Amino acid sequence: MTIAPPPVVPPSTRFLRSGAPAAPLPEALAVRAARTAVAREASLTGFLAATDHNLGPFEIQAAHDGQELLRTATQRAAQARADATPPRCPVCGRPLSQCSRGHARTCLTRFGDITMARPRGYCKRCRKWRPPADPALGLEAPAGYSPAVQALVALAASKWPVAEASGVREQLAGGRLPPATLDREAKRQGQRAQRLRTQLDQPAAAEAKQLERVLQPYPPIIQLDAWNLRERDAWGQSASLRRRGQEPDRWHWVWTGTVFRLDHRGETAGGRPVIVQRGDVFTRQGLDALREQLHAEALRRGLGQAASVLVIGDGAVWIGRWADDRWPLAQQRLDFYPAVQHLVAVGRALWGEDKVQFKAWLKPLVRQLKNESAVKVIRPLEEALANLPVGPVAEAVAQEVACLREHQDRMDYRAARRAGEPLGRGPVEATCRQAQCRFKRPGQFWSQTGDEALLCLETFWRNDRWALLFPHPAFDPAKN
Ligand SMILES: [Zn+2]
Repeated sequence: MTIAPPPVVPPSTRFLRSGAPAAPLPEALAVRAARTAVAREASLTGFLAATDHNLGPFEIQAAHDGQELLRTATQRAAQARADATPPRCPVCGRPLSQCSRGHARTCLTRFGDITMARPRGYCKRCRKWRPPADPALGLEAPAGYSPAVQALVALAASKWPVAEASGVREQLAGGRLPPATLDREAKRQGQRAQRLRTQLDQPAAAEAKQLERVLQPYPPIIQLDAWNLRERDAWGQSASLRRRGQEPDRWHWVWTGTVFRLDHRGETAGGRPVIVQRGDVFTRQGLDALREQLHAEALRRGLGQAASVLVIGDGAVWIGRWADDRWPLAQQRLDFYPAVQHLVAVGRALWGEDKVQFKAWLKPLVRQLKNESAVKVIRPLEEALANLPVGPVAEAVAQEVACLREHQDRMDYRAARRAGEPLGRGPVEATCRQAQCRFKRPGQFWSQTGDEALLCLETFWRNDRWALLFPHPAFDPAKN
């Protein structure tokens, strides 16, 4: 069966006033839909005859035919909205003058390219020519992508390297979007996400101040970690830097935090523990930025009503200082694993290669640390240290014992277990590992502008705020 070419869309001929109804969709769309359906029915015969084909080719052809129908419908909807947009400046709201019509703009939608003829007018206050339909349609200057494509590009680039993201997006939605273009658009969306993050975080802090201090029984638990990624700073200058005695340092910290409450933990059907509500923060902009963003996440999870907060870290100096500065009343905990590593280091110094003695020594200490108290573990270590002759072994043991002493107030694991609180930082470590799968691939170099933008997109996705960034109401079949 031969399918007739699509009807030509008539150019816009009107610039309607505010509130005027859009022109009804032409009947030709229904005709096109019928043609598509007939073509699919007709192709069934060919599909059945091609016994060496599985369902795949039929699916691809059906998607292609349907896509063209949807593209036409989207183009008409966009044109109707462009025609119905009132001639007012989208920035200052003043009426536009010298209005004219027929200004073409092409953009990529989920269903392919569409072209609209938009009206345009001059804003005397802004002293700029304005096409009011563009913001009404969600078309941001200068990019040529519909809101749904903007969302898809942002999501794909925050999950995969841009070359892969470009290919995946093309498979899912058709239309070409080369990696470099996708990269540029994703970063633009990420920068928009950063601006929105700032707007959202400020009210969170302001609202918390107004909250009545009704204590809730589950303090927020904040887990902190950091990982590094490589940026392209001083690119091409490695040799000259080295000649001047400077080693180029391209690895930079991504400060990471996770916040959740004890009552937001649950189990999957298979019995695996999960956190059902949590907030993740990544930032390359330093500890102050981490503090502000994490504070806003904690406020969203009841920090304003909590008597205290529990901060779990790996013993790094910055975490202790940071917690003291931000939440002086916070309870701090040293992750159980690094605490055990201090014991391991002492054991290695004492027992050397004797693994049997080492294990026999370590096992009861670890059990004691978990079930009793840090003091009970540290005291015998200090006694052992006092009996060691001066030398490298004593130095190594002294160093580890000093670390344990410094953190002993953060090592009440027995109380933590009784309260059902986590001993370690599994959630934030998992978060860091997942982010590194995207941001720390071989051969990847970033710029701080680019990595912060994509990291911000990732937090919107993880923290269930994607819909605030891309507010397309979810389709509900029950309401249609
Ligand atoms: Zn204006």
